[in-house]
Amino acid sequence: MALEGRCMGCRKNREMRDVNLSKTKRGTFMAKGTCTKCGTKMARILSVTQAEEFKKKQKEVSK
Ligand SMILES: [Zn+2]
Repeated sequence: MALEGRCMGCRKNREMRDVNLSKTKRGTFMAKGTCTKCGTKMARILSVTQAEEFKKKQKEVSK
């Protein structure tokens, strides 16, 4: 499932793979994944809305 984030390795926005969502104490979500290009670990803050959308898409893919 594609989700973009800022890669510190490429210094560009890249797609993340192996994304894991976790909830933060503030109620937002943290998406952690790996850069598809260079393999650097990436993290990105998602709003609740973005996280819900991402989960929905993930479910559709796994059907
Ligand atoms: Zn990268």
